[in-house]
Amino acid sequence: MDTVKVEVVTPERVVYSGDAKIVVVKGIEGELGILPNHIPFVTPLKIAPVQVKNAGSEDLIAVSGGFMEVRKDKITILAESAELPQDIDVNRAQASKERAERRLAESRQDNLDFKRAQLALQRALVRIQVGSKGKK
Ligand code: ATP
Repeated sequence: MDTVKVEVVTPERVVYSGDAKIVVVKGIEGELGILPNHIPFVTPLKIAPVQVKNAGSEDLIAVSGGFMEVRKDKITILAESAELPQDIDVNRAQASKERAERRLAESRQDNLDFKRAQLALQRALVRIQVGSKGKK
C-alpha cells in the first residue's frame, strides 16, 4: 500500500475522510510526518492545522484538542473540534482572536482565564490560517 486512510472525527461527526501519501501533524514534541505502514502509536496533538497530502493534492484541516491513532493502514484523529477550510467563518475566528487577546492583556498569568485565553487564541489563529489558506 502506498497510501494510508485518514479520518478526522469529532464527537459530532466525521469531518474528513480520505487517503494520504503523508499526513503532517503537530505532536506534543513538534511536527510529525506519518507515512503509510508506520508502526502503530498514539499521541496527543497540539492545536494546529493537519495536512493530508496525496499525489497532487493537499487538504488542510483545523484541529483542536485531539489525539492521533496511527495504524499501518489507517490514521484516525479524534478531536474536540475540527473544521475544513470551507466551513470556517474567518470573521468569527478573528473576533475570537481579539477577545482572547483582550483577556490575555487583562488577566494574570497564574489565572485560569489566562490559560483558557491562550488556548482560545491558538484555536482562532489556526482557524484563520486554515480558513484563509486552505480554501479551494
Ligand atoms: P468562538 O469564541 O468563536 O466560539 P471557540 O474557540 O470558543 O470559538 P470552540 O469551542 O472551539 O469555539 O468550538 C465550538 C464549535 O464551533 C465547534 O463545533 C467548532 O467546530 C465551531 N467553530 C468554532 N469557531 C468556528 C469558526 N470560526 N468557524 C466555523 N466553526 C467554528
